[in-house]
Amino acid sequence: MDIRTLDALAIHQHNCQTAREVEVALEVDRLLRLLEFPFESTWVDLRFDPLLAEHSASKVTAMAINGDVHGVAEIRLQPLFLFHDFRTFFEEVIPHEVAHVVLSARRICDGSDNSKPHDDEWVELVSEINPDCEPAAKVKGEFDDRPIKIHKGGLVCTCDCCDLDSIAVFPNTASTAQKLKSEELACSHCFSPYRKTPQEDWPAELKPCLAFYQQLIDFKAIHPILSR
Ligand SMILES: [Zn+2]
Ligand SMILES: [Zn+2]
Repeated sequence: MDIRTLDALAIHQHNCQTAREVEVALEVDRLLRLLEFPFESTWVDLRFDPLLAEHSASKVTAMAINGDVHGVAEIRLQPLFLFHDFRTFFEEVIPHEVAHVVLSARRICDGSDNSKPHDDEWVELVSEINPDCEPAAKVKGEFDDRPIKIHKGGLVCTCDCCDLDSIAVFPNTASTAQKLKSEELACSHCFSPYRKTPQEDWPAELKPCLAFYQQLIDFKAIHPILSR
């Protein structure tokens, strides 16, 4: 699937391939311009990255020269979540990340402290962008990060709940092994302890979820020249 052309003034490079990604990118562009992000001197690189563990991440690498911010702002978004809960992604994740890059640029410009990303000023800006959303360090959408965790080598465990509800993915560590052994990891719905479950016993419903995620990874174009 090809990279879509995007009529966005504030975004210099991106890897949008689906209609949903284009819609998200246009909203990011609209907000950056509305909030007067210095996109003429700070290039915005918008990336849908299926390997991202969180819903989003961003980084502004720039410096102030004669009162202008010069550099690169990288915004990364998890494309899988666009299919789980597009509305929350659009209404909450976008304001969350746009507020980060806008504030970072402002603070680089005036040299003020940017060490606490989710501080009061950030909360205020997110609320200004979307008065209906509850600003939080992690957006609580109907996002299912289990395929991502499994892909990253997480340990698949199951409880007595049904189908997909029975699956939890834990870090594949000695500490998890210990907690499974002592039955410390229990489901909050059926209260049964989680058990390490071999692949052949995974619920059948998991297969299409993992296949969909793999497909997303496979068709996400990677441009090595633009990657950093
Ligand atoms: Zn954040
Ligand atoms: Zn359960």
